[in-house]
Amino acid sequence: MKKFDAKSLARPNIRSLRAYEAKEMPCRVKLDANESPFGFKVRQSVIKRISTNRYPDPEARALRGALAKQLEVKPPNILVGNGSDEIIYYLITTFGGPVLFPVPTFSMYGIIGKALGESIIGLPLDGSFDLDLPLMLGALKTARPKLTFLSSPNNPTGNCFSSDRMLKVIESSSALVVVDEAYQPFSSDKGFLPMLKDYKNLLILRTLSKVGLAGLRTGYLIGDEAIINEVNKVRLPFNLNSYSQAIAVSAIEDRKAMRSAIKAVVSERERLFEALEGIKAATPYPSEANFILFKVKNSRRVYNKLLKQGVLLRDMSGAVDGCLRVTVGTKAENNFFLKALKEVAR
Ligand SMILES: *Cc1c(COP(=O)(O)O)cnc(C)c1O
Repeated sequence: MKKFDAKSLARPNIRSLRAYEAKEMPCRVKLDANESPFGFKVRQSVIKRISTNRYPDPEARALRGALAKQLEVKPPNILVGNGSDEIIYYLITTFGGPVLFPVPTFSMYGIIGKALGESIIGLPLDGSFDLDLPLMLGALKTARPKLTFLSSPNNPTGNCFSSDRMLKVIESSSALVVVDEAYQPFSSDKGFLPMLKDYKNLLILRTLSKVGLAGLRTGYLIGDEAIINEVNKVRLPFNLNSYSQAIAVSAIEDRKAMRSAIKAVVSERERLFEALEGIKAATPYPSEANFILFKVKNSRRVYNKLLKQGVLLRDMSGAVDGCLRVTVGTKAENNFFLKALKEVAR
């Protein structure tokens, strides 16, 4: 066998990529990944019904049925994925680029776009982290993106984009607009599901990851049946395993537990925000999600010092100058974080 170099064997667009870093760091309080601090109790009876020797239902009928009922749409309007990340992959595979999104936003739109060799266009948000409409409309006209991703509430800024600006983008696009509502359950905005009937080019992306079920890897796409059918052509046959399907159904049906966990996170978010406002060195940005972005003096140093005390946050200074992102935890976790922050941020 001749000598070879794996990296130079990879396609040029892959060579320049870096693998997504989700750091597994030892810490006491994990507030870096926008997970829920509340897990879902899985009943034994749910697990017992699963046959490990059989493939899962390739159509995920029970899960799509449960979602359709909850969202008041029809199962053919829903495509499920191994996390919404997988659905982003499928969307870009199906429709290609250019892929347009505002920045800073969720990094996977750009990473997956590049991995698939598509051109990506990231346009800066305005000074209030809202869509810069003239910029967006200009790009829609000149670049004619096949896909536009709008994360609202936006990760990592936490705000919702103003809905009139989002609607202008949807109306001005000659192709598809995906509103990524990963954090919609924590928002006072009702989201864009009600708009689906008026805009055939609109797709809504949601996930169970931020509401207590990140371990299941379950995301879903809602939209016009004709669009869902196209995306379904590239979906791998058994993309959602039997455990994820079964547990997701039982979690969705237990609406009371899900709602009360979300309510607890929202109320802690408000308390955490006020407490951050009271810390001189920190400036939090209002959030409609389950995390808060805040500016802090010497952010890099504060990040490292917090880590030493056992508190893991997400350093966002690459995306928003001098900013860290903290996920809302339990009351005790938030207090632990606040106490540590008061000590290290001066
Ligand atoms: C976390 C996140 C996702 C990914 O969700 P998964 O379903 O876990 O893949 C998608 N979009 C945004 C904006 C996110 O923050």
